[in-house]
Amino acid sequence: MRRGLFVGRFQPFHNGHLEAIRAVLGECEECVIAVGSSQKSHETDNLFTLGERIEMIYETLRAEGLAQRAIIVGIPDINNNSLWVAHLKALSPSFDAVYSNNALVKQLFAEAGIKVKPLKLVKREDYDGTAIRKSMGKTKEWEKHVPPKVKEFVARIDGVERLRQIAEGDKI
Ligand code: NAD
Repeated sequence: MRRGLFVGRFQPFHNGHLEAIRAVLGECEECVIAVGSSQKSHETDNLFTLGERIEMIYETLRAEGLAQRAIIVGIPDINNNSLWVAHLKALSPSFDAVYSNNALVKQLFAEAGIKVKPLKLVKREDYDGTAIRKSMGKTKEWEKHVPPKVKEFVARIDGVERLRQIAEGDKI
């Protein structure tokens, strides 16, 4: 296949996402990486901006020698699931199949007649966005579950301190 689409929020980009991209690139010449919920940031569940997530992904793929086979796009959410596939298609380069384990994403693409392929979950207990965000600010455990470039990037933008500040605000 020429191009596979991989959709995610990447809050943050972790080793499971990287393995998923490797799997897509094992079957496709190129991978379109659609960064969903692109309008969200500075929330405990959506800590990083679209630009920051693009940097994490791009720097990691460059370090892995995969950047030339990837195209990264941002997709804002819309308040209408039945129109989301058309919305995404308007904002993305064309693709031949979608790779996802997200139930809603799979359902919406399947209903639109687009081929959906599952991904093998890799070390899901560790490589999981929610678990990683929970660990940030408390321990350094999460650093083992993200690519080195993501760890460096989060340190550079003081991301853990951002999470602490936002979580503090949530208690008010
Ligand atoms: P995510 O970052 O949690 O996961 C991205 C993908 O990586 C998923 O397919 C997931 O199964 C896979 N993955 C995660 N951990 C893995 C591991 N350890 N090993 C292998 N694969 C792993 O993102 P998500 O929640 O799937 O993102 C879906 C995006 O689509 C969201 O931004 C959502 O808002 C958007 N969306 C929007 C609408 C709308 O706007 N109406 C509708 C549907 C979906």
